[in-house]
Amino acid sequence: MAMVMPTVFFGHGNPMNALERNRYTEAWTALGAVIPRPTAVLSISAHWYTSSAALTVNTAPPTIHDFGGFPAELYRVQYPAPGHPELARRVQRLLSPLPVDLDEQWGLDHGTWSVLCHVYPKADVPVVQLSIDATKEAGFHYDIGRRLAPLRDESVLIVGSGNLVHNLHAYAWGRQAVAPYKWAVDFEKRARELLLAHDHDSLVDYGRLGREALLSIPTPDHYLPLLYVMGTSLEQDPIAFPVDGVEGGSVSMLAVQVGESGRGQGN
Ligand code: ZN
Repeated sequence: MAMVMPTVFFGHGNPMNALERNRYTEAWTALGAVIPRPTAVLSISAHWYTSSAALTVNTAPPTIHDFGGFPAELYRVQYPAPGHPELARRVQRLLSPLPVDLDEQWGLDHGTWSVLCHVYPKADVPVVQLSIDATKEAGFHYDIGRRLAPLRDESVLIVGSGNLVHNLHAYAWGRQAVAPYKWAVDFEKRARELLLAHDHDSLVDYGRLGREALLSIPTPDHYLPLLYVMGTSLEQDPIAFPVDGVEGGSVSMLAVQVGESGRGQGN
């Protein structure tokens, strides 16, 4: 019986989650335990936001510490998951004729490893990253998600890592117990309703969702990974929210799961 993999959008938040044990990281670990074990992960991270589409193709992708001002122990974290060049080439073919570079230099950025170190703590599932082409409109990213959907039938776990609400200008650094902004709560509520209603057009055209959306998505980088994940969904897929919460008033930690865990097609 063919297994249809779910796809997951993770709100990764503060990179320190890599070192912490909290209710977000516990939910990520729990997901890793219930999702059928994938042959590989394809990760779309907010932190590989470039001027073209590219895939990591190295067999031993380096752990990239792409942040500043954090404790030394965070820079010592290594996530030595292997790469999967065959998957990179499979994705390149799926997206053809779109030109997609095979990148030997990039590895796993913290959008990927700060989450996967909890989902697959042994780093024994190969990982490929797909970059986000910052020059393209939101609909382009959603369409790539649609073209990646066949991977769900090939035991590949597609992961988007960003944050549904991500406004660092309003973020209360070091005072994470502050109450969420009303616009953040309102936008997250609206987005959940749209997700549950499979209203993808509204999610892609988020600029029309008003002031709350503009404050929640001041730049698209942390929102776009969600559109890839939604692009992989089918009409009948259930939508679930494995964990939620708002950190620092303005960063939503909402996770979104498309499809069921541990269920086979026609099951
Ligand atoms: Zn981030």
